Amino acid sequence: MPVTEQRRPLSDLNATELAAFKAQQQAAYDALVASGLSLDLTRGKPSTEQLDLSDGLLTLPTSAYSPDGTDTRNYGNLLGLAELRAIFAELLGLELDQLAAQGNSSLTLMKDVLSYLWLRGGVDSPRPWGQEERVRFVCPVPGYDRHFVLLEWFGIETATVPMTDQGPDVDAVAALVKDDPSIKGMWLVPTYANPTGQVTTQEVAERLASMPTAAPDFKIFWDNAYAWHHLTPAETKSADIVSLAAVAGHPHRPILFASTSKITYAGAGVSFVGGSRETLAWFVDNLSHGAIGPDKVNQLRHLEFFKNAQGVRDHMAKHRELLAPKFAEVDRILTERLDGYGVATWTRPQGGYFVSLDVVPGTAARVIELARNAGVALTPAGSAFPGRNDPQDQNIRLAPSFPPVADVTGAMEAVTTCVLLAAAEKLGA
Ligand code: PLP
Repeated sequence: MPVTEQRRPLSDLNATELAAFKAQQQAAYDALVASGLSLDLTRGKPSTEQLDLSDGLLTLPTSAYSPDGTDTRNYGNLLGLAELRAIFAELLGLELDQLAAQGNSSLTLMKDVLSYLWLRGGVDSPRPWGQEERVRFVCPVPGYDRHFVLLEWFGIETATVPMTDQGPDVDAVAALVKDDPSIKGMWLVPTYANPTGQVTTQEVAERLASMPTAAPDFKIFWDNAYAWHHLTPAETKSADIVSLAAVAGHPHRPILFASTSKITYAGAGVSFVGGSRETLAWFVDNLSHGAIGPDKVNQLRHLEFFKNAQGVRDHMAKHRELLAPKFAEVDRILTERLDGYGVATWTRPQGGYFVSLDVVPGTAARVIELARNAGVALTPAGSAFPGRNDPQDQNIRLAPSFPPVADVTGAMEAVTTCVLLAAAEKLGA
């Protein structure tokens, strides 16, 4: 249905009009429940068709030896295969000796790095973080739930800052870190953030790299999980945080993470960790106490599959063809069904895996409950906030990558009905 002239913000309706609107939405919702849906918009994972794009991996590698003669079947080479590191170093704007290739999960690397900082301290730490009285992290919100859960596990406290169109609110970050030495780090998904899709601008990255921090060993966990996951041909580039930090005199501040989880196989990809040469040496030294070498056969498989950096870019264009129509469908339905009612705003990401939907404050949990009762699973309320505490109860993360387009359509039609019903309930209360 096109946006109609007669649509007015629900807050402008009088009591009678609102009651009529609510009755209409209740009827639509009852029909939805009766239709017996079973749909899922919770999973930010690649679809089967996306995984199929990488099935060439299943018959690789063709040799046990990498081009430089490394026998990938054996122990050794903690940094990972040089030729694969070279491809991703080029894609990330790093030098070869600033990047290591590891196992299948960058989240595991984040946990490892945090553990090393906790037990041993970083290259610039006066003491291990675990010996500090208090450790806090700056968390841009909405953000990635697993980042927050990991902090909780360490007993690290959180200080939230809002995401803006330019990335994290850098004035808020700078104010927090300036005088408080307990603030040891921050999370940042710089490109196509989870879930808001924002890209951190060069200017914001420069300020993050150069801002004074009370903690001498402040770290930016630069989680570039979606660096190449463009939904448009624009192919936005990430800021080069390692060079920016080096120029600003804080070379060890950023630690980069990335992986091929959403490039090849989420369960059998390759992860990467990067930073200054000293940071890399520190990482490998800590790693060496519990590892003799990563899965180099898988790394060689990936090398043979991609061949070079352009191979990765070309492969990502195929993902885009599968993903872009799903994101377009989410936006189409949100626009057609919600525009003009003043009950929701949402992101129109140029990349990444999520759409962030803000509904009438105080109704996100209700929308999710209504959707669940109608057979549509949405990410739990508050997930994008530390402690699952969305202070406004308004944010919902939508993940359209996994279901087929027809299911995205059905799920989004249901979600919009739930948004309207919950808004009418709230405003009429
Ligand atoms: N970082 C972000 C921001 C993510 O959204 C995800 C997965 O959804 C990950 C990391 C997980 O990465 P990996 O599969 O490499 O552990």
